Amino acid sequence: MTDTTVETVLGPVPAHDLGTVDAHEHVFLRTPVNPGEEFLDPDKAAAELSAVSASGIRTVVDLTPVGLGRRPLELADAARRSGVHVVAATGYHRAAHYREDHWARDADEETLLSILLDDLTVGIDRHDWTFPHPEPTTHRAGIIKLGASYQHIKGVERRWFAAGAEAARATGVPIAVHTEVGTAAFTALDLLAEHGIPAGRVLLAHTDRNPDPELHLDLIARGAHLVYDTIGRIKYRPDAVVLDLLETIAAHDGLDHVCLGTDVGRRSMLTSYGGGPGMDVLGRDFVPRLRRRLGDEAVRTVLETTPQRLLTPTPSTAAAPVAVA
Ligand SMILES: [Zn+2]
Repeated sequence: MTDTTVETVLGPVPAHDLGTVDAHEHVFLRTPVNPGEEFLDPDKAAAELSAVSASGIRTVVDLTPVGLGRRPLELADAARRSGVHVVAATGYHRAAHYREDHWARDADEETLLSILLDDLTVGIDRHDWTFPHPEPTTHRAGIIKLGASYQHIKGVERRWFAAGAEAARATGVPIAVHTEVGTAAFTALDLLAEHGIPAGRVLLAHTDRNPDPELHLDLIARGAHLVYDTIGRIKYRPDAVVLDLLETIAAHDGLDHVCLGTDVGRRSMLTSYGGGPGMDVLGRDFVPRLRRRLGDEAVRTVLETTPQRLLTPTPSTAAAPVAVA
Protein backbone atom coordinates (compact mmCIF):
# COMPACT_ATOMS: atom_id res chain seq x y z
CA MET A 1 0.00 0.00 0.00
CA THR A 2 1.44 3.41 -0.95
CA ASP A 3 0.24 6.87 -0.02
CA THR A 4 -1.85 7.27 -3.14
CA THR A 5 -3.48 3.87 -3.38
CA VAL A 6 -6.43 2.51 -1.48
CA GLU A 7 -6.58 -1.11 -0.34
CA THR A 8 -9.60 -2.88 -1.89
CA VAL A 9 -10.48 -6.54 -1.46
CA LEU A 10 -8.90 -7.19 -4.87
CA GLY A 11 -5.73 -5.24 -4.08
CA PRO A 12 -4.52 -1.64 -4.11
CA VAL A 13 -6.25 0.81 -6.47
CA PRO A 14 -5.15 4.41 -7.17
CA ALA A 15 -7.52 6.66 -5.22
CA HIS A 16 -8.70 8.57 -8.28
CA ASP A 17 -9.62 5.28 -9.99
CA LEU A 18 -12.23 4.59 -7.30
CA GLY A 19 -14.65 6.84 -9.20
CA THR A 20 -17.97 7.42 -7.47
CA VAL A 21 -18.04 6.05 -3.91
CA ASP A 22 -20.90 4.79 -1.76
CA ALA A 23 -19.25 5.28 1.63
CA HIS A 24 -21.37 2.98 3.81
CA GLU A 25 -22.82 -0.40 2.86
CA HIS A 26 -22.84 -3.99 4.05
CA VAL A 27 -22.36 -6.76 1.49
CA PHE A 28 -22.74 -9.51 4.13
CA LEU A 29 -24.10 -9.02 7.64
CA ARG A 30 -25.30 -11.04 10.60
CA THR A 31 -25.97 -9.44 13.96
CA PRO A 32 -27.93 -10.34 17.09
CA VAL A 33 -29.42 -6.83 16.92
CA ASN A 34 -31.54 -7.82 13.89
CA PRO A 35 -32.39 -11.53 14.20
CA GLY A 36 -33.74 -13.10 11.00
CA GLU A 37 -32.40 -10.21 8.90
CA GLU A 38 -28.97 -11.65 8.13
CA PHE A 39 -27.76 -11.69 4.51
CA LEU A 40 -24.85 -14.01 3.70
CA ASP A 41 -25.64 -15.33 0.20
CA PRO A 42 -22.72 -14.84 -2.26
CA ASP A 43 -24.87 -14.87 -5.42
CA LYS A 44 -27.27 -12.30 -4.02
CA ALA A 45 -24.32 -10.16 -2.92
CA ALA A 46 -22.94 -10.18 -6.46
CA ALA A 47 -26.40 -9.33 -7.84
CA GLU A 48 -26.80 -6.43 -5.41
CA LEU A 49 -23.36 -5.05 -6.29
CA SER A 50 -24.10 -5.43 -10.01
CA ALA A 51 -27.19 -3.25 -9.53
CA VAL A 52 -25.00 -0.72 -7.72
CA SER A 53 -22.63 -0.72 -10.70
CA ALA A 54 -25.56 -0.18 -13.09
CA SER A 55 -26.64 2.82 -10.98
CA GLY A 56 -23.31 4.55 -11.70
CA ILE A 57 -21.46 3.84 -8.43
CA ARG A 58 -17.94 2.43 -8.93
CA THR A 59 -16.83 1.77 -5.33
CA VAL A 60 -18.61 0.50 -2.23
CA VAL A 61 -17.21 0.82 1.30
CA ASP A 62 -18.35 -2.27 3.20
CA LEU A 63 -18.41 -1.25 6.86
CA THR A 64 -19.05 -4.70 8.34
CA PRO A 65 -16.59 -5.08 11.24
CA VAL A 66 -15.15 -8.12 13.05
CA GLY A 67 -17.60 -10.87 14.00
CA LEU A 68 -20.65 -9.63 12.11
CA GLY A 69 -20.66 -12.09 9.21
CA ARG A 70 -17.70 -10.96 7.12
CA ARG A 71 -16.93 -13.37 4.27
CA PRO A 72 -13.70 -12.09 2.69
CA LEU A 73 -13.38 -14.78 0.01
CA GLU A 74 -16.99 -14.36 -1.07
CA LEU A 75 -16.65 -10.56 -0.83
CA ALA A 76 -13.69 -10.62 -3.21
CA ASP A 77 -15.66 -12.87 -5.55
CA ALA A 78 -18.68 -10.52 -5.52
CA ALA A 79 -16.37 -7.59 -6.29
CA ARG A 80 -14.85 -9.51 -9.19
CA ARG A 81 -18.22 -10.59 -10.61
CA SER A 82 -19.82 -7.14 -10.32
CA GLY A 83 -16.82 -5.03 -11.34
CA VAL A 84 -17.35 -2.82 -8.27
CA HIS A 85 -14.34 -1.89 -6.14
CA VAL A 86 -15.03 -2.93 -2.54
CA VAL A 87 -13.15 -1.41 0.39
CA ALA A 88 -13.61 -3.78 3.33
CA ALA A 89 -13.54 -2.89 7.02
CA THR A 90 -12.11 -4.26 10.17
CA GLY A 91 -12.87 -2.97 13.66
CA TYR A 92 -15.47 -3.42 16.37
CA HIS A 93 -19.06 -2.21 16.26
CA ARG A 94 -21.06 -0.81 19.18
CA ALA A 95 -21.42 -3.26 22.06
CA ALA A 96 -25.03 -4.28 21.31
CA HIS A 97 -23.80 -6.18 18.22
CA TYR A 98 -21.79 -8.66 20.34
CA ARG A 99 -23.34 -11.27 22.58
CA GLU A 100 -22.39 -11.23 26.26
CA ASP A 101 -20.03 -14.18 25.75
CA HIS A 102 -18.29 -12.81 22.62
CA TRP A 103 -14.48 -13.03 22.89
CA ALA A 104 -14.02 -9.36 21.86
CA ARG A 105 -15.59 -8.20 25.14
CA ASP A 106 -12.82 -9.79 27.24
CA ALA A 107 -9.84 -9.78 24.87
CA ASP A 108 -6.78 -7.84 26.02
CA GLU A 109 -5.70 -4.73 24.12
CA GLU A 110 -2.82 -6.52 22.44
CA THR A 111 -5.17 -9.13 20.95
CA LEU A 112 -7.74 -6.52 19.90
CA LEU A 113 -5.01 -4.58 18.10
CA SER A 114 -3.26 -7.53 16.47
CA ILE A 115 -6.53 -8.71 14.92
CA LEU A 116 -7.09 -5.30 13.33
CA LEU A 117 -3.50 -5.14 12.04
CA ASP A 118 -3.76 -8.66 10.61
CA ASP A 119 -6.95 -7.72 8.72
CA LEU A 120 -5.35 -4.48 7.44
CA THR A 121 -1.88 -5.67 6.52
CA VAL A 122 -2.04 -9.45 5.94
CA GLY A 123 -5.63 -10.27 4.98
CA ILE A 124 -9.02 -10.64 6.65
CA ASP A 125 -9.42 -13.90 8.52
CA ARG A 126 -11.40 -16.34 6.40
CA HIS A 127 -13.58 -17.28 9.38
CA ASP A 128 -13.98 -13.70 10.62
CA TRP A 129 -12.13 -14.49 13.85
CA THR A 130 -14.27 -17.33 15.03
CA PHE A 131 -11.54 -18.96 17.08
CA PRO A 132 -9.68 -21.28 17.45
CA HIS A 133 -8.68 -21.61 13.79
CA PRO A 134 -7.91 -18.24 12.19
CA GLU A 135 -6.87 -18.55 8.54
CA PRO A 136 -5.74 -15.35 6.82
CA THR A 137 -6.91 -14.62 3.28
CA THR A 138 -5.10 -12.24 0.92
CA HIS A 139 -8.02 -9.77 0.97
CA ARG A 140 -7.13 -6.81 3.16
CA ALA A 141 -9.31 -4.27 4.93
CA GLY A 142 -8.90 -0.59 4.01
CA ILE A 143 -10.84 1.18 6.77
CA ILE A 144 -11.55 0.80 10.50
CA LYS A 145 -15.10 0.72 11.82
CA LEU A 146 -15.94 1.59 15.44
CA GLY A 147 -19.28 2.06 17.17
CA ALA A 148 -20.72 4.32 19.85
CA SER A 149 -23.93 3.75 21.81
CA TYR A 150 -26.86 6.15 22.05
CA GLN A 151 -25.70 9.39 23.71
CA HIS A 152 -22.58 7.75 25.25
CA ILE A 153 -19.67 5.40 24.66
CA LYS A 154 -19.61 2.31 26.86
CA GLY A 155 -16.50 1.06 28.67
CA VAL A 156 -15.96 -1.87 26.32
CA GLU A 157 -16.45 0.39 23.30
CA ARG A 158 -13.76 2.69 24.69
CA ARG A 159 -11.31 -0.21 24.70
CA TRP A 160 -12.24 -0.95 21.08
CA PHE A 161 -11.76 2.74 20.21
CA ALA A 162 -8.25 2.59 21.71
CA ALA A 163 -7.34 -0.46 19.61
CA GLY A 164 -8.90 1.06 16.47
CA ALA A 165 -7.04 4.34 16.93
CA GLU A 166 -3.75 2.54 17.41
CA ALA A 167 -4.32 0.47 14.25
CA ALA A 168 -5.20 3.66 12.34
CA ARG A 169 -2.02 5.34 13.52
CA ALA A 170 0.02 2.34 12.43
CA THR A 171 -1.51 2.09 8.95
CA GLY A 172 -2.87 5.58 8.15
CA VAL A 173 -6.33 4.30 7.19
CA PRO A 174 -9.41 6.34 8.15
CA ILE A 175 -11.88 5.50 10.93
CA ALA A 176 -15.63 5.33 10.42
CA VAL A 177 -17.66 5.68 13.63
CA HIS A 178 -21.21 4.42 13.91
CA THR A 179 -23.18 7.04 15.82
CA GLU A 180 -26.48 5.88 17.25
CA VAL A 181 -29.11 8.23 15.78
CA GLY A 182 -26.34 10.75 15.22
CA THR A 183 -25.57 11.21 18.94
CA ALA A 184 -22.29 11.29 20.91
CA ALA A 185 -20.36 12.49 17.85
CA PHE A 186 -18.26 15.00 19.76
CA THR A 187 -17.60 12.41 22.46
CA ALA A 188 -16.27 10.06 19.77
CA LEU A 189 -14.07 12.80 18.25
CA ASP A 190 -12.69 13.71 21.69
CA LEU A 191 -11.92 10.09 22.50
CA LEU A 192 -10.16 9.51 19.17
CA ALA A 193 -8.21 12.76 19.60
CA GLU A 194 -6.98 11.48 22.98
CA HIS A 195 -5.62 8.49 21.08
CA GLY A 196 -3.88 10.62 18.45
CA ILE A 197 -6.48 10.58 15.66
CA PRO A 198 -7.42 14.02 14.29
CA ALA A 199 -11.07 14.69 13.41
CA GLY A 200 -10.04 15.04 9.76
CA ARG A 201 -9.46 11.28 9.57
CA VAL A 202 -12.87 10.39 11.00
CA LEU A 203 -16.15 9.67 9.21
CA LEU A 204 -19.24 10.00 11.40
CA ALA A 205 -21.88 7.59 10.13
CA HIS A 206 -25.63 8.16 10.48
CA THR A 207 -25.36 11.87 11.21
CA ASP A 208 -28.41 12.32 8.97
CA ARG A 209 -30.47 10.40 11.56
CA ASN A 210 -30.33 13.65 13.55
CA PRO A 211 -30.77 16.16 10.70
CA ASP A 212 -29.67 19.20 12.69
CA PRO A 213 -27.79 21.55 10.33
CA GLU A 214 -26.19 23.61 13.12
CA LEU A 215 -24.79 20.50 14.77
CA HIS A 216 -23.51 19.27 11.43
CA LEU A 217 -21.75 22.56 10.68
CA ASP A 218 -20.15 22.46 14.14
CA LEU A 219 -18.86 18.94 13.47
CA ILE A 220 -17.48 20.04 10.11
CA ALA A 221 -15.84 23.08 11.76
CA ARG A 222 -14.10 20.59 14.05
CA GLY A 223 -12.73 18.95 10.88
CA ALA A 224 -14.83 15.75 10.92
CA HIS A 225 -16.57 14.18 7.96
CA LEU A 226 -20.26 13.34 7.99
CA VAL A 227 -21.73 10.32 6.25
CA TYR A 228 -25.34 10.79 5.21
CA ASP A 229 -26.04 7.10 4.89
CA THR A 230 -29.74 6.53 5.42
CA ILE A 231 -30.63 7.54 1.86
CA GLY A 232 -33.83 5.82 0.76
CA ARG A 233 -34.74 4.85 4.36
CA ILE A 234 -38.00 6.71 4.27
CA LYS A 235 -39.19 5.56 7.70
CA TYR A 236 -36.55 7.88 9.16
CA ARG A 237 -37.46 10.96 7.08
CA PRO A 238 -38.01 11.92 3.44
CA ASP A 239 -34.86 12.12 1.28
CA ALA A 240 -35.77 15.78 0.68
CA VAL A 241 -34.55 16.46 4.23
CA VAL A 242 -31.10 15.13 3.26
CA LEU A 243 -31.15 17.30 0.14
CA ASP A 244 -31.98 20.30 2.35
CA LEU A 245 -29.08 19.42 4.67
CA LEU A 246 -26.69 19.16 1.72
CA GLU A 247 -27.88 22.51 0.40
CA THR A 248 -27.23 24.14 3.78
CA ILE A 249 -23.80 22.53 4.07
CA ALA A 250 -22.99 23.67 0.50
CA ALA A 251 -23.98 27.24 1.38
CA HIS A 252 -21.32 27.11 4.12
CA ASP A 253 -18.68 25.56 1.80
CA GLY A 254 -18.69 22.30 3.77
CA LEU A 255 -19.54 19.77 1.07
CA ASP A 256 -15.95 18.51 1.03
CA HIS A 257 -16.72 17.09 4.49
CA VAL A 258 -19.73 14.99 3.50
CA CYS A 259 -20.01 11.48 2.00
CA LEU A 260 -23.11 9.50 1.04
CA GLY A 261 -24.33 5.92 1.49
CA THR A 262 -27.36 3.73 2.01
CA ASP A 263 -26.16 1.41 4.80
CA VAL A 264 -28.33 -1.56 3.96
CA GLY A 265 -28.30 -3.54 7.20
CA ARG A 266 -31.23 -5.95 6.80
CA ARG A 267 -32.10 -8.54 4.20
CA SER A 268 -35.55 -6.92 3.89
CA MET A 269 -33.78 -3.83 2.47
CA LEU A 270 -32.17 -5.76 -0.39
CA THR A 271 -33.70 -6.19 -3.84
CA SER A 272 -31.85 -9.49 -4.27
CA TYR A 273 -33.86 -10.92 -1.34
CA GLY A 274 -37.15 -9.50 -2.65
CA GLY A 275 -37.06 -6.38 -0.47
CA GLY A 276 -36.20 -2.71 -0.91
CA PRO A 277 -35.01 -0.05 -1.50
CA GLY A 278 -31.89 -2.00 -2.61
CA MET A 279 -28.23 -1.07 -2.28
CA ASP A 280 -28.47 0.80 -5.60
CA VAL A 281 -30.95 3.40 -4.30
CA LEU A 282 -28.20 5.99 -3.86
CA GLY A 283 -27.10 6.06 -7.51
CA ARG A 284 -30.51 5.16 -8.88
CA ASP A 285 -32.82 7.59 -7.07
CA PHE A 286 -30.85 10.07 -4.96
CA VAL A 287 -27.93 11.17 -7.14
CA PRO A 288 -30.22 12.45 -9.94
CA ARG A 289 -32.12 14.51 -7.36
CA LEU A 290 -28.87 15.84 -5.86
CA ARG A 291 -27.60 16.77 -9.31
CA ARG A 292 -30.85 18.62 -10.04
CA ARG A 293 -30.70 20.46 -6.70
CA LEU A 294 -26.98 21.33 -6.44
CA GLY A 295 -25.37 20.55 -9.81
CA ASP A 296 -22.57 18.35 -11.14
CA GLU A 297 -19.77 19.87 -9.07
CA ALA A 298 -21.54 19.12 -5.78
CA VAL A 299 -22.16 15.53 -6.88
CA ARG A 300 -18.50 15.16 -7.77
CA THR A 301 -17.43 16.54 -4.38
CA VAL A 302 -19.55 14.22 -2.21
CA LEU A 303 -19.27 11.09 -4.36
CA GLU A 304 -15.71 11.33 -5.68
CA THR A 305 -13.16 13.81 -4.35
CA THR A 306 -14.12 13.69 -0.67
CA PRO A 307 -14.35 9.91 -0.20
CA GLN A 308 -11.29 9.34 -2.41
CA ARG A 309 -9.27 11.73 -0.24
CA LEU A 310 -10.51 10.17 2.99
CA LEU A 311 -9.84 6.59 1.93
CA THR A 312 -6.26 7.37 0.95
CA PRO A 313 -3.99 6.31 3.84
CA THR A 314 -2.47 9.37 5.44
CA PRO A 315 1.06 9.11 6.84
CA SER A 316 0.59 12.09 9.14
CA THR A 317 -1.64 9.94 11.32
CA ALA A 318 0.87 7.10 11.19
CA ALA A 319 2.98 8.78 13.88
CA ALA A 320 2.35 8.01 17.53
CA PRO A 321 0.78 10.85 19.54
CA VAL A 322 3.29 13.18 21.13
CA ALA A 323 3.83 12.24 24.75
CA VAL A 324 3.42 15.13 27.16
CA ALA A 325 6.26 15.21 29.69
ZN1 LIG B 1 -23.78 0.14 8.73
